[in-house]
Amino acid sequence: MYDEKLVILGREIKPGQSAFLEVEVAKLHTQNSLSMPVIVERAKLDGPVLLLMAGVHGDEINGVAIIRDIIRKKYNVPKRGTIICIPVFNVFGYLNQTREFPDGRDLNRVFPGTVNGSLASQFAYKFTTEIAPLVDYILDFHTGGDEKDNFPNIRCDIKQKKALELANIFGVPFIVNSNYISKSIRETMTNIGKTVLLFEGGKSLDLNEEIINYGVQGAYNVMKFLNMQNGEININTETIILQKSKWLRAPYSGMFQALVKNGSKVKRKTVLGRISDPFGEFEKKVVAPFDCCIFGLNTAPIVYKGDAIFHVSV
Ligand SMILES: [Zn+2]
Repeated sequence: MYDEKLVILGREIKPGQSAFLEVEVAKLHTQNSLSMPVIVERAKLDGPVLLLMAGVHGDEINGVAIIRDIIRKKYNVPKRGTIICIPVFNVFGYLNQTREFPDGRDLNRVFPGTVNGSLASQFAYKFTTEIAPLVDYILDFHTGGDEKDNFPNIRCDIKQKKALELANIFGVPFIVNSNYISKSIRETMTNIGKTVLLFEGGKSLDLNEEIINYGVQGAYNVMKFLNMQNGEININTETIILQKSKWLRAPYSGMFQALVKNGSKVKRKTVLGRISDPFGEFEKKVVAPFDCCIFGLNTAPIVYKGDAIFHVSV
């Protein structure tokens, strides 16, 4: 195993070596080319290959900051094995501060991609064929979309023993059992035998120090568990596994105010929030339909009837 040749993106990386590589994402119509940086650190000792990636959705900046801090602290320089960091997966979206690729596609819905597909699909294909096969474990960092704020959690299929084990080691308040979204990175990577944990924390277009610390510490715990780093695993929170979850939807349209904290446990009939009109005439309470944990909430000031407002355990 130790002598095994490691070639990433056409470059051989020997034990003890590191590399800063770039994947060409696209040739722009301005004749500039756009590339995705990939940072590889290989230890002298053999071990697994761990990929840390963020910014699949370009407006989800907490994840980018998590990988930045991991690199800053040199946690990505392993004692054993190889750590690959892709801090900004969707460079286009990150530059534009949008979730999507410039062709309007959600990169996380076009995997494994095709060689002659849409721009996003071609890029996905490049990742699936040139990087993914080399990797054993993936930590993919996300935040809530739109104005949804996620309490730190790991999404995984809890029937997958290895994924659940790593999720517990990561150390977050919630592990959320999640079905695979069709054509997502998680589904594609799981199908080819990789173990994927998806971290969710905070909201898009926001930097949250507490969330970033959860992500950094969690990734470091996983590295220690996989013997890629030395030292004690450090978990500062109780982890609750949520087998089933659903979004509670706004029963009315109007101004929305949450009255409970994200991450809290509530009893049935607890008032979770209120929805009102601008005239002081209409005000309705949103109550918990059952005992539940709240791990995501909509921070939008105005909601329409049917909008997702509280992500809760069932
Ligand atoms: Zn995302």
